[in-house]
Amino acid sequence: MINIRKILQLPDLLDAKRVLCIQPHADDNEVGAGGTIKALRDRGAEVVFVTVTDGQAGSVEPDYSAHDLVIKRKIEKENAAKWLDVSLQYDLDFPDGHEYLIHDVAAEIVEILRSFRPEVVMTVDPWSPYEGHPDHLKTGHAVVKALLFSQNASVFPIKHHPFYSVPQVAFYASSYPNTYIDVTPHFLTKMAAIQEHASQFDNEDWPLLREYLIASAKELYLTKINQNHEEGYAEAFKVLSTRQLHYFPMAMYQ
Ligand SMILES: [Zn+2]
Repeated sequence: MINIRKILQLPDLLDAKRVLCIQPHADDNEVGAGGTIKALRDRGAEVVFVTVTDGQAGSVEPDYSAHDLVIKRKIEKENAAKWLDVSLQYDLDFPDGHEYLIHDVAAEIVEILRSFRPEVVMTVDPWSPYEGHPDHLKTGHAVVKALLFSQNASVFPIKHHPFYSVPQVAFYASSYPNTYIDVTPHFLTKMAAIQEHASQFDNEDWPLLREYLIASAKELYLTKINQNHEEGYAEAFKVLSTRQLHYFPMAMYQ
């Protein structure tokens, strides 16, 4: 198969020096890419988080009002970011689980792209076939729209910063991964960061989820990084050039 990355001269994910990680909810970056994010920070990359929703729908506990939950999740997010040494965080505060427009999210993201000028954007994969959460679908599609139209003055007029085009995107939580990162030295840190989100994970489901996260990271390592059955952990991404996000039907297989 054609090596599209070579043709487009795209650098390796871990060589990026400015990375923008855009998550629907406060915990998604950690779960999908926490180990890779810490690896990038250790290699000197600047890593900025954007959280699209305010997290108000993230609990079935009647004890929490929407307002209390929003505050609690912001504190958890700050504490989790310390584990990963995240450089800066933006909150877009769209209403978690409620109606809002992909275009409005994309407009906010375009402004951040133009000011931060990342080499890679990470986010959820909106084309994973069984992903049903509307905030995940909307966030993934908003990021794609922002990437495709960040140089288009008709759709997103210049406000404060000049045009900028991001060369590549790395989708986590993807059903069609093509890139695997060894995160063995960072896996415990990733798990510690995830556990800071107590409103989401300090419950009876956590042991099962923890077991799943560990088992799937081990399996990825064994099948994609090192088949010699040494213990390790990996994360998976679908990395595409921004060019592949439009009229590139083979992108699914590349
Ligand atoms: Zn989420």
